[in-house]
Amino acid sequence: MKFFDTIIIGGGAAAWAAALYAKRYNLSVLVVEGELGGETALAGAIENYPGILSIDGFELIQRMKNQAVGLGAETLSGKAELVKNFAHCFEVRVGRENYQSQSVILATGMEHRKLGLGRESELKGRGVHYCATCDGPLFKGKRAGVVGGGDSAVKWASQLSDMGAAAVTLFVREPNLNRAEPINRERLKKYSNINVLLETVLTAFVGGPPLKAVRYKVKKGKERELALDGVFVAIGAVPRSELPAQLGVKLDKQGQIDVDPRTMKTSVDGVFACGDVTNASGSFKQIVTSAAQGAIAATSAYLDLSTHHDFCALHAVPVAGLLETGAQHQKNGGRRRVKTKSRRH
Ligand SMILES: Cc1cc2nc3c(=O)[nH]c(=O)nc-3n(C[C@H](O)[C@H](O)[C@H](O)COP(=O)(O)OP(=O)(O)OC[C@H]3O[C@@H](n4cnc5c(N)ncnc54)[C@H](O)[C@@H]3O)c2cc1C
Repeated sequence: MKFFDTIIIGGGAAAWAAALYAKRYNLSVLVVEGELGGETALAGAIENYPGILSIDGFELIQRMKNQAVGLGAETLSGKAELVKNFAHCFEVRVGRENYQSQSVILATGMEHRKLGLGRESELKGRGVHYCATCDGPLFKGKRAGVVGGGDSAVKWASQLSDMGAAAVTLFVREPNLNRAEPINRERLKKYSNINVLLETVLTAFVGGPPLKAVRYKVKKGKERELALDGVFVAIGAVPRSELPAQLGVKLDKQGQIDVDPRTMKTSVDGVFACGDVTNASGSFKQIVTSAAQGAIAATSAYLDLSTHHDFCALHAVPVAGLLETGAQHQKNGGRRRVKTKSRRH
């Protein structure tokens, strides 16, 4: 079992920024990265990250990862399935392996909300999609729909058109597109093959798999049908709160991790959180806010570790086995020292 000063869970902007700062504080860091890149990798062109005019999201996240790994952050692809807390000493399970740390930084982001219509799971990937960057290229010359009225929906509609879709229909529940950034709304106007249906709700998926058509209602009017090859669902996301719940971390009413935005501390000692999974910046969730919160979380973890110097080694002997005891710690002159081989005292 390996031991780290901090284990960061997540592979998005928040996680890599936290890893970068933690390494610059000379902490030993493991990043359990889940799906590489998180939402940033799927966001398409990013034009609002300071200092970079325009960059593909996947390229941006690769750069962030390379920077942290270049400084010595260790990484692991896979899902952290269980996090336990033994008095400020944490154990994280990934696959069959367990890893230990003195602090945990949760950067697990959000997952896409489903429409909740019948047969949605059956048609997933076969006409019902949740990522235009990933599945958009399959719609070259085909008819696509996008459901949603926010920034993601507007961006996905133009992205699908750019990727060669023959026609794109945007189904918007609200009477306007005000939830999308003005620059993205404006951009939409230059596409002649994007049709926006306001005050419209999807009511059913028809045919398939693969999907053949959708049914929808405009202003609660009569149900209509439109032949489509696929629909992209962009109606927001819900925070991934499984791991924080295991740790007993306080969540707010929306299921977001409740943090102090000045420190990114959670309600549990030694557990920090950053990015979209938290309520630090309200509903304003961006790459730049996630990265900033990652930097703050790592700084707080570092400060916390300096105060609780070797707290885990002194208190967690039963779970550790590989850690030096308090007595040995004194013998070593109080320096942080982590053994990599199991040894019982
Ligand atoms: C279509 C779209 C377009 C966007 N465009 C922009 C834009 O132009 N500009 C902008 O600033 N923002 C944009 N955003 C928002 C931005 O992408 C997010 O705010 C940002 O990516 C959030 O970063 P994060 O690190 O908090 O979470 P995420 O990027 O969601 O990363 C979470 C990570 O945690 C991992 N994870 C989850 N659970 C576990 C687990 N148990 N074990 C291990 N790993 C786990 C996931 O696999 C993922 O890698 C866009 C979003 C979308 C969907």
